Amino acid sequence: MSLTVCKFGGSSLADGNNIARAADILLRDGARRYVVVSAPGKRFSADEKITDMLYACWRECEKTGSCAEAFVKIRKRFTSIVAELGMEGFGMDAILDETERAIEREKSADFTASRGEYLNARLIAAKLGWTFVDAAELIFFDEKGQFDEAKSYPLIEQKLKNCEHAVIPGFYGTDACGKVKTFSRGGSDVSGSIIARGVGADLYENWTDVSGFLACDPRIVQKPQKMERISYKELRELSYMGANVLHADAIFPVRKGNIPINIKNTFAPEDPGTLILPSVQYGKSENLVTGIAGKKDFTVIFLEKSMMNAEVGFARKVLSVLEEDGICFEHMPSGIDTLSLVIESKYLAGGVLDRLIEQIRAAVSPDYVRVLENIALVATVGHGMAKSVGTSARLFGALSAEGINIRMIDQGSSEINIIVGIDNDDYEKCVRTIYREFFGEGNKTAESVL
Ligand code: ADP
Ligand code: ASP
Ligand code: MG
Repeated sequence: MSLTVCKFGGSSLADGNNIARAADILLRDGARRYVVVSAPGKRFSADEKITDMLYACWRECEKTGSCAEAFVKIRKRFTSIVAELGMEGFGMDAILDETERAIEREKSADFTASRGEYLNARLIAAKLGWTFVDAAELIFFDEKGQFDEAKSYPLIEQKLKNCEHAVIPGFYGTDACGKVKTFSRGGSDVSGSIIARGVGADLYENWTDVSGFLACDPRIVQKPQKMERISYKELRELSYMGANVLHADAIFPVRKGNIPINIKNTFAPEDPGTLILPSVQYGKSENLVTGIAGKKDFTVIFLEKSMMNAEVGFARKVLSVLEEDGICFEHMPSGIDTLSLVIESKYLAGGVLDRLIEQIRAAVSPDYVRVLENIALVATVGHGMAKSVGTSARLFGALSAEGINIRMIDQGSSEINIIVGIDNDDYEKCVRTIYREFFGEGNKTAESVL
């Protein structure tokens, strides 16, 4: 019998009716034995996510030692979910009381934020009549704060082996000191992927509020084309570059186990969704471009020096400066005598940029340094691009016809993406223009791509 691990996101579990809908989906297919759940998300666009309310609890707790005021909203939200599910007899009040005390006792931002998933999993386990298994007993982090595979996978296998069905909270695990630690925001996708790999699932179903991976953000282009299949590599590029339907790190655990991901819509469960597959199984695609994604707020530091190519150690010295300052760079396009560093602007605030430039000048004496701020990066991704002549020309031609000034170009060495840097203000227009160029009428290609 095949085994499916499901993950339901906050957008699918925002109220009692949605939780009941998710429970129906789970009970409909016997292969769905384990489910990872997020905290309740937004019910409407102006609503607040439980996780955001919990961060407010933490801020209150830090200031006053109590979270009494901020916790009222959380209690109210869960109480209304309990009522919608007709589960008044379950004893949620006592669990909420204990959680409020634990938040005040633990005095930790991560512990506080994790309680949305914890509470939701307790409730959903009771609704389904499945076993609640705490993620703190399954998912572990090492001393560096990295996911500890060697410790986690055997424990996941052992603890879930004798459990026919289980509900597991997403988003957190236990650190090397035994304390609760969360992934970054949206991290329940990563938890689901880890559990899928840990139990050796045949499929990881990720249930959300859209019918699959769309060619670009539906908040920028109305009803973008849905992808039937994409490869792990394309997913990684697109999710890292801002297609936040799936957390950028969710790919790693399932990729090692060759487990396909199926993105499915809780509100249209019959839709086939998008299958994310290893490249070898991916076969032919009818699209030249699979997707477009991007992020705003980068700074580009452009360095020029004659004979840079012949200066042994130039790039290493520049990167050592970044390393000493603990700054990650996003991209590093280079030419014969030029090298650019693309860095998220948030790392350069408060005088860091000026200091960094001084240190670079001292380390490598460039002839010329130029800084571009407020830059957005837009990635156009697809296996088809590597085998097809003229894709870049089409992309740059379309942007220039719209008057969009390209400030930087970076084509990844994997040849499955082209990244352009443009002004933040041009971001949405740039995504729409590229979408129109590659997904508008008559732009499909039937060429084989792998
Ligand atoms: P969940 O609550 O299930 O974790 P998220 O809100 O994290 O869901 O992710 C789903 C949302 O991601 C969608 O509602 C959509 O607005 C957004 N999104 C951004 N880019 C894409 C894309 N390329 N394809 C699909 N959805 C996208
Ligand atoms: N609830 C967490 C968040 O809002 C984790 C998740 O939903 O995946 O980021
Ligand atoms: Mg999410």
